[in-house]
Amino acid sequence: MWSLSAWRRQRTLTRHPIADDMWQRVRHHLSFLDGLSAAEDQWLREACVLFLQDKHLTALPGVELHQEQRLLLAAQAQLPLLHLGDLNWYQGFHEIILYPDDFLSPQRHRDASGVEHEWDGEHSGEAWPQGPIILAWPGVMASGGWEGYNLVIHELAHKLDMLNGDANGLPPLHADMRVSDWAKVMQEAYDDLDRQLDRNPDAQTAIDPYAAENPAEFFAVTSEYFFSAPDLLHEAYPQVYEQLKLFYRQDPLARLRQLLAENPVYQAHD
Ligand SMILES: [Zn+2]
Repeated sequence: MWSLSAWRRQRTLTRHPIADDMWQRVRHHLSFLDGLSAAEDQWLREACVLFLQDKHLTALPGVELHQEQRLLLAAQAQLPLLHLGDLNWYQGFHEIILYPDDFLSPQRHRDASGVEHEWDGEHSGEAWPQGPIILAWPGVMASGGWEGYNLVIHELAHKLDMLNGDANGLPPLHADMRVSDWAKVMQEAYDDLDRQLDRNPDAQTAIDPYAAENPAEFFAVTSEYFFSAPDLLHEAYPQVYEQLKLFYRQDPLARLRQLLAENPVYQAHD
C-alpha cells in the first residue's frame, strides 16, 4: 500500500502546493498530457508533489534543477500511474540521478559462442535493480511531446518490470490479465521486429529498433510509444497496444484522437 498515511499525505500536499502558473507552464511543456480530464489533472498534480517528497533528485554539475524542472520530471514519471491506484509502484528506489549529458557505462554481452564482450556504451538513461535511476537531463527535456520518445517513461517502465524480479518484459499483471496473452502478443511483435532487422539492419521500422534489443527493452520502448505515439504503436502492433492499455488502464490513443477531432491542426507528430 501507499507508504504515507492519509494524514501525512494531506499534510504534504498542503505544505507543498504547486502554484497555478507554474503548473500551467509544466502542462504547456508536456503536450502529451493534453486532453487529460480535470480529475486526472488534479490527481497528477498531487502525485507530483508526493513523488518529489518521496524521491531524492540528485543533479550533477551542469544540471539546473529548479521547482519547474522537478515538476517536468515528476509529471512524466506519474503519467503511467494515473489509473493504477495508490499502490507504491515505484518502490525499491529512492534516488534519481540527473547527468548533464549522455554518459558512458560499462556493458557486457556474452555472444552465441560464449565469448564475453565488454565495452563502454553511451546511454541516456539507466535503471539499476534495487538502485537509482539515472537520466541524462537533455533527454528529459526532449521528452513530453507526442514523438514516440520519452526517456523518463522508458526508465520507469524498467522499474515496473523489475517489481516481480529481473527486467524481462513482464511486469506484474493485474488479476484481469493473462500472462499467456501478454507473452504471446509481446513475443509475436518482438519476433516481427527482429525479423525485419535481420533482413535489413537499417530497415525503417515502425517503432524504434532498440525495442528489438531484448524483451525488457521491448516493454520499455513500447511503453514510450503507448504514451507518446499511441497512433504509431497501434498501427504497427495493435495487440501490443491493447495489452499495454490493460496494464496501464488508460487509453492515450483515444485521448489523441479526441484532440485531433477537436482541433484539426493539432500536431501530434511534426
Ligand atoms: Zn532500456
